[in-house]
Parts: sequence; C-alpha cells; structure tokens
Amino acid sequence: MINLEGKVAVVTGGTSGIGLATVKLLLEFGADVALCGRDRERLDQVGNDLKQAFPGRRILARACDVLQPGQVAHFAQAVHDELGNASMLINNAGQGRVSTFADTDDAGWENEIRLKFFSVIHPTRAFLPQLEQNEDAAIVCVNSLLAVQPEPHMVATSAARAGVMNLVRSLATEFSPKGIRVNGILLGLVDSGQWRRRYDEREDKSQTWEQWSLALAQRKNIQLGRLGRPDEAARAIIFLATPLSSYTTGSHIDVSGGVARHV
Ligand code: NDP
Repeated sequence: MINLEGKVAVVTGGTSGIGLATVKLLLEFGADVALCGRDRERLDQVGNDLKQAFPGRRILARACDVLQPGQVAHFAQAVHDELGNASMLINNAGQGRVSTFADTDDAGWENEIRLKFFSVIHPTRAFLPQLEQNEDAAIVCVNSLLAVQPEPHMVATSAARAGVMNLVRSLATEFSPKGIRVNGILLGLVDSGQWRRRYDEREDKSQTWEQWSLALAQRKNIQLGRLGRPDEAARAIIFLATPLSSYTTGSHIDVSGGVARHV
C-alpha cells in the first residue's frame, strides 16, 4: 500500500483495459488522476463512473488523441490548470497491429511506427515541464514483450516496440539529472479491449470467452495458463510510477505470465 494523496497522475488511454485499471488503482491509492482517450462518449461515461466511485478525488477526463500534438498540449495545460503539476505520466494509449511483412504496405508501417513512437513522444514532451517541478517524478511506458520476442504475424508492431524500448533507455539517461525516472512494462496477453474485440470476431461463435481465452493461452504457451488481468498490469505500472521503485530507471518489468523464452 502506498499513499499517493496530493500527487497528480496522467494516464493516456485511460478509458479501457489496462489504462482504466491503472486509473482506478491510482485513485484507490489517493492520487488525483487525469485520463484521456479519443471516444468522447466513452470518456464521459468513464469519467462520471469514476467520480461516483471516488468522490474524494479530483478526476479530469479529457478527449485527446495522443498523435495530435496540439491536443496533447491542451490536455497538459488543462491538467496543470485544474489539478496541478503531474508527477506521474503513464504512456499507455495505443493498440497492436496484426500483419505479416507480406501484407504490411508502407502506409501500414508508417502508421504503426508513428503510433508507437509518438504516443510516447508527444505526451512526454508536453508533460515534461510539469514532471520537472516534482521530486519523485516518473514516466512509465506500456510496451509489449514483442519488443524482445517478435512475432511474424505482428511484424510492424514488434519492430516499433523494440524501438520504443530503446527510447525508454535514452529518455531515462537524459532525464535522470532532472530526477525523472523512466521505465516500461513488457506485456504478454492481457484481457482487455483488444482481445475482447478479437473474441467478438471469432469464427466459432459457440465458444464462450473462458473457452476462447483458455484455448488462446494454450496455443501461445502461456506458462501460467491464462491471459493476464488488467489490474495485474496496473500493479506493475504503479510500482514503476511511484517511489516504490525509487532506485529503478531505464528498465522494464515482464508482465507476461511466462511467455518470455529468454533468461
Ligand atoms: P484497450 O483497447 O482496452 O484500451 C486502449 C486505450 O487507449 C483506450 O482507452 C483507447 O481509447 C485509448 N487510445 C487508443 N489510441 C489512442 C490515441 N491515439 N489517443 C488517445 N487514446 C487512445 O487496450 P489495452 O488496455 O489492451 O491496451 C493498453 C496498451 O497496452 C496499448 O498501448 C496496447 O498496445 C498495449 N498492449 C496490450 C496488450 C494486451 O494483451 N492487452 C499486449 C501488449 C501491449 P479510444 O479508443 O477512445 O481512443
């Protein structure tokens, strides 16, 4: 248990899955939280639900596409004006792209590389002045095990993920004199919006989520035998975002249930 009262956290892509689980955990630990997503309807719904569930906390839910630097700058200004300077930035917004080399055209590569890099670059640049104002400031980037264990059916995502892992190391080096730690998590398969969408598109509609996800876990050889839960990813994020990990920077935590093959 850690007390985050008086701290301000920002979670991009905070309206669903891992981002939403992280928002809830931060609120439970006492932080004030700003979250963003692109879908305004879902954002309003989630914002209202959170305000009801956590009446004592200040919550800012703003529409913002992390790929639009102007929108990210406005979001950062709103956080500064309404909550105060953020000391935790969770770069979580995004999704994976399923495609092999054969079926990824230049536009596909450009979109994927742009999403993976600029979903980190834009918020990091916009919130840096606020993070610099805080002791114990930290950035956490939500990444995938694909960064170190690429899959041919997710070729562009895997390559871009590796680049972002490298970027985390550079940011950690550049920001450590400012006292800002930068780390990431490497996810395996976590039950969230992405997998629920793939489940909705399954061929055998008679399969329940439990049957479908257990078969998926077996196929992927997940050693713990199931998909991860969003709160299991959120706990690793909270560790890296808070002084619980005060002597850790430039590193990554594996949250993959044993999918990683390397030592
Ligand atoms: P979800 O689809 O459940 O949530 C994604 C969140 O990101 C939503 O809030 C979505 O809101 C938001 N988002 C997406 N694109 C943007 C954007 N351009 N600007 C702002 N918000 C955006 O997925 P997960 O919780 O699974 O994903 C969280 C992160 O974890 C992603 O980066 C994903 O790639 C990564 N990841 C997930 C894995 C998994 O197994 N679940 C595995 C490896 C990595 P909206 O659509 O309204 O914008």
